[in-house]
Amino acid sequence: MIVADRKPLDEILASIEPYKKIMLMGCGGCVTICFSGGAKAVELLASQIRMARNKAGSDIDIVECTPERQCEFEFIDAFKEQIASVEAVLSIACGVGVQTMNEHLAEGVTIPGLNTKFMGYPVEHGLWQERCAGCGDCVLQWTGGLCPVARCAKRLFNGPCGGSAGGRCEVDKEVECVWQLIHDRLEKLNKLENLEIVRPARDWRTSTNAGQRKVKFEEAML
Ligand code: SF4
Ligand code: SF4
Repeated sequence: MIVADRKPLDEILASIEPYKKIMLMGCGGCVTICFSGGAKAVELLASQIRMARNKAGSDIDIVECTPERQCEFEFIDAFKEQIASVEAVLSIACGVGVQTMNEHLAEGVTIPGLNTKFMGYPVEHGLWQERCAGCGDCVLQWTGGLCPVARCAKRLFNGPCGGSAGGRCEVDKEVECVWQLIHDRLEKLNKLENLEIVRPARDWRTSTNAGQRKVKFEEAML
């Protein structure tokens, strides 16, 4: 799922400083699961903003809401009237939610309250680690299901760098070297020959290197 965390309160307060009436809009999707943007996060942030503004002698009116998903028109359209009644929307959805608000409801201004991080795996309660960078040409079928794009600091495709030692990444010793993990996993699966196959150089145009990407689902157009 998409993992995001909240911007520092001071940054949020600065971004809404000109406004006296805002909507604080969460999202019931991924950011609810990672605790940064669900209904409870909306309630908590709203009260922190009210307290800070009250202390600064500049009260603020906050309309709170949490649509099921902020990246889908049908869910945000339900709040159109309320959005029209505020000066700005502070969004605690991922960057797609913020941009959906700004593009689809272009007459209003939506400001991000979160920093969107990555597509993550739930390691334990309250802890996620990056697992997919959306590279557009998945290689998990030959790496034993472990991603060298999201999990190797150098995005290597042909084995570990010279700095891998004791199963740890040289860039961050707290992190396991994914190429060690790939080797161990392929060994366990009796597929070490995967590492001997010479593959063509990676075409990074499937990633963001060739500009904005898009996906068209033909059947949806029928
Ligand atoms: S190879 Fe690409 S698509 Fe597959 S998990 Fe890694 S980043 Fe995601
Ligand atoms: S130590 Fe391993 S994970 Fe770290 S940069 Fe080198 S190959 Fe990648």
